[in-house]
Amino acid sequence: MATRAGLRCSQTALRLARTPLQSHAIRSRAFSSSKAAEAAKTLLYIEHKEGKLNPGVYNAITAAQKLGGEITGLVAGAEADSLDAVAQAAAKYPLSKIVVMSADTLSHSLAEPLAPLIVALVQKEGYTHVTTAHTAQGKNIFPRVAALLDVAQISDVMQVESEDTFVRPIYAGNAIATVKSSDKIKVFTIRTSSFDPAKESGEGASIEKGESGQVGKAIAEWVSESLTKSERPDLGSAARVVSGGRGVKNKENFDSVIIPLADALGAAVGASRAAVDSGYADNSLQVGQTGKVVAPELYVAVGISGAIQHLAGIRDAKCITAINKDPEAPIFEVADFGLVADLFNAAPELTKAVGKK
Ligand SMILES: Cc1cc2nc3c(=O)[nH]c(=O)nc-3n(C[C@H](O)[C@H](O)[C@H](O)COP(=O)(O)OP(=O)(O)OC[C@H]3O[C@@H](n4cnc5c(N)ncnc54)[C@H](O)[C@@H]3O)c2cc1C
Repeated sequence: MATRAGLRCSQTALRLARTPLQSHAIRSRAFSSSKAAEAAKTLLYIEHKEGKLNPGVYNAITAAQKLGGEITGLVAGAEADSLDAVAQAAAKYPLSKIVVMSADTLSHSLAEPLAPLIVALVQKEGYTHVTTAHTAQGKNIFPRVAALLDVAQISDVMQVESEDTFVRPIYAGNAIATVKSSDKIKVFTIRTSSFDPAKESGEGASIEKGESGQVGKAIAEWVSESLTKSERPDLGSAARVVSGGRGVKNKENFDSVIIPLADALGAAVGASRAAVDSGYADNSLQVGQTGKVVAPELYVAVGISGAIQHLAGIRDAKCITAINKDPEAPIFEVADFGLVADLFNAAPELTKAVGKK
């Protein structure tokens, strides 16, 4: 019975293959798949500061490339933001073109004028995908873009499987969800540590000016900013990170134990939320679910227990080492190398040993 059914099926297929209908079907399938490949028309919001691209932009370009199709970079800001320099720098990367939008209201990348601007561009140019790095700015601007477009935002994408299917972490990274979006326009942010930075293309994208009429109204005003200046590597992109936790006990110890170890290793300084909340370290140094996600070659956790919310920020670290006096601390479950010791002896010893090299 099965064989007969199979035979019937293959005969039907053979007959159909000879009919114009079937060849039409094959042509239209081929057309629709090539149409699908062409269909991805991506708008990539380019974050910048003081005339330089935010490092996460390079990783976001790599993620956008996985969609196939053309990628337009959007550089927005006020003239004082050195927009030309930003556009020239971005044009070296594999983008089809760069659109530069300049208006006073766009200074400091406020979400209120930027979101309607992005939406207007998407509607005018028919972009199918809109993306940026999953940074504080991306997290601020993009959900508004999604809401204005009446689509669901897909946050913190770790993998682009196809034009409509994306992989992202949920439950503080304890589960990985594959999400298929049926929205007409896909709005998503990129987990930069999951993608390699794009390389310069050597071609040079064209740069054009956008229409200023698309800029949203200034309903919010930038008042001031307070920046922590540091000569150390940037936490988000450093190859090595040394983080201190509550075990350090106070700010003086953080400064005299964690920072010298980081300097000896040429590492960025990080901290657990408990350390930040207790005032040992600045908020910008927090690593974890509600802090920064890092993916260094080496991550050194000192006096950190390893709560899931902290581990959510280091799952992509290549080598994790931990110093903790409690052998049962959960950090040892993920550490490649662990030292059960008092950090006040072990960390300075390590600093001295590294410094001798
Ligand atoms: C919604 C939510 C979001 C959160 N987001 C984050 C986040 O982004 N990042 C984050 O880090 N946390 C986050 N947390 C908090 C998290 O749950 C933990 O409370 C926090 O990570 C604990 O920090 P810790 O490991 O420094 O402190 P503790 O858990 O108190 O651990 C201190 C460790 O130091 C060790 N220690 C003490 N003294 C010494 C010594 N002398 N030598 C060696 N070791 C010593 C102890 O054995 C202990 O393991 C979040 C929590 C919630 C609910």
